[in-house]
Amino acid sequence: MNVETIKTGKCPVCGSSEVYDNRGASPGNQRKFITVSAAKSFVIDAYVCTACGYFKEFIRDEDMKNEKLMNKVKEKWNKTGEGRIG
Ligand SMILES: [Zn+2]
Repeated sequence: MNVETIKTGKCPVCGSSEVYDNRGASPGNQRKFITVSAAKSFVIDAYVCTACGYFKEFIRDEDMKNEKLMNKVKEKWNKTGEGRIG
């Protein structure tokens, strides 16, 4: 996958390398969660470009590899797109 993403440390909007993320941040800087079901949630990695303010969030890689969590998403959430809007 060769998509331009802020994850590389280079801002895809302004090209600056002044990019910061909160991965592994201390508990006081706690990462956010998105609830999938009562027992399951995503941990969010946030990236920000301090040059232009571009801000992007991703589900952390660990959660992307979690098949049970992904299956729960497919069960609980709507499939986006499929040629329709709304
Ligand atoms: Zn930027």
